[in-house]
Amino acid sequence: MRHQPVQCAAQRLRWMHDQLLAAYGPQHWWPASTPFEVIVGAYLTQNTAWTSVERSLARLREAGVLNVEGLRTIAEGTLQELIRPSGFATRKAPALKAFVGLLDEEFGGSLFSMAAAQTETLRKKLLDLPGVGPETADAILLYALEHPTPMADEYLRRIAERHGLLLPLPGRNRTGYTALVQLTKDAFAGDPSSHHRQLYNEFHALTVAVGKTHCGRTADCTGCPLAGDAHAPLGRTRKGREKETRIKKVAITRK
Ligand code: SF4
Repeated sequence: MRHQPVQCAAQRLRWMHDQLLAAYGPQHWWPASTPFEVIVGAYLTQNTAWTSVERSLARLREAGVLNVEGLRTIAEGTLQELIRPSGFATRKAPALKAFVGLLDEEFGGSLFSMAAAQTETLRKKLLDLPGVGPETADAILLYALEHPTPMADEYLRRIAERHGLLLPLPGRNRTGYTALVQLTKDAFAGDPSSHHRQLYNEFHALTVAVGKTHCGRTADCTGCPLAGDAHAPLGRTRKGREKETRIKKVAITRK
């Protein structure tokens, strides 16, 4: 494993991308066959494991409604029933309907027209929809509409926190999300802007890969491609790191 020279947080994150790509290879995200499936998946995956999302997507596909026209015409109650495997159906069904409403009212029902809108304008419109937070909006922008928009999630938050990339540590709120996105932008700022979309696409998919393999609720650092980061991890788990901090504080007090 290549060890990383001491660098700033953004440079370390860029190095992490290279390590993960070397370890796991291109991820070919998002796992869907059409941009609209990406959008539906981005809604359904909120607070839900992807395996449950796949069950809902299969039911929608089987019913012939996994497309704009299908979601436009299906009764909300029927939609709720079809997406029940991925949970929160009473919230997600109207949210999906609201997305189609925006598509129809402002973009003539065309995802191509929506994709042609300016990124910040579109992001604001998406965030104004019910059931759309920054992570869902950015997933739609990046993976369905192909805008060069970085995104963050719980996996990236864990990596940043465990490796001490951001101080103060990012919380689960919008401020924490924005800090993680800014760090990602800084990490790839030295790359040509024409490469950003692909880099953001790949980086997010790679952080999910390492999160599923090593950096879940409990960190399993043995064999992790990021274990060679010069600064980290401080502890294998959050509890371990908190304990380590307490021990350091006690040691300083006793000096
Ligand atoms: S498992 Fe350990 S080395 Fe790997 S990303 Fe998480 S904290 Fe870092």
